[in-house]
Amino acid sequence: MSECLQVALEEFELLGTDDDDKPDAYQALLDAISDGSLPPLARITQEEIAQQMTEMPDNILRVLKQPGLQIFVGKRADDTPGWAATGIQSSDVTADGRSKGSLSFYTARENMIFISTDEPGGSKNVMVHEMGHALDFTIVKDNPVMVESAPGIDITVSRISRDDPEWVKMHDDYLLPVKDVNEWFNYFIGGPSGTNNEMGRAELFAEGLAAYFNGNHAEGKTRLRNFLFNGIKDTDKRRIVAEKMIDIWKRYKIIE
Ligand SMILES: [Zn+2]
Repeated sequence: MSECLQVALEEFELLGTDDDDKPDAYQALLDAISDGSLPPLARITQEEIAQQMTEMPDNILRVLKQPGLQIFVGKRADDTPGWAATGIQSSDVTADGRSKGSLSFYTARENMIFISTDEPGGSKNVMVHEMGHALDFTIVKDNPVMVESAPGIDITVSRISRDDPEWVKMHDDYLLPVKDVNEWFNYFIGGPSGTNNEMGRAELFAEGLAAYFNGNHAEGKTRLRNFLFNGIKDTDKRRIVAEKMIDIWKRYKIIE
């Protein structure tokens, strides 16, 4: 382990404490970037992360600033101080055969984001992608909302991509019928196993936000459509899906 990385890991170990005078996860990460203690990142520069984070709307930053969320950045997730708390073995593999210790992911039970800088992964912006998962799991967790799923039938939403009837219907109607896509895009249909639609909906939520926020927000809708173009070739359908995703994010006040 390099000296630089050890410093970074000590920085991030602070994030697990609840003391009022300790920095929140957002500020700690920005501080680590500005004082040079974050290890080099593979697919996104530290300047880009800092830029993305300062540009991010309050509703997304709220997730990073909430008490309890922890972010661990290292060469591999299993190199970071947060790893032991997950109970995951480094040798455990995902449904598509990747070693969990080397991945970037969000774990809802421990409310931890892991960024593995040596593993490029498939996201346009791994920071926003994992924050998107955290947002999906937590933004209404403590204040579930009632949404009408059919006339007179309300359902409780405590996790948006799993429960929101419009998100489920959009995915069922426009993503599930997509055939002959590459393995990368199939992640947003059936998740890592390729056949789990609930995980596909969660991945679409996270990567959709990564595409939307990967640069100038004014062009977010265009970038979202460009992302969807990888699987949805019909222009009208692609436009409809992008609009529905944006409408739902607006309903939850994730975007303005
Ligand atoms: Zn993901």
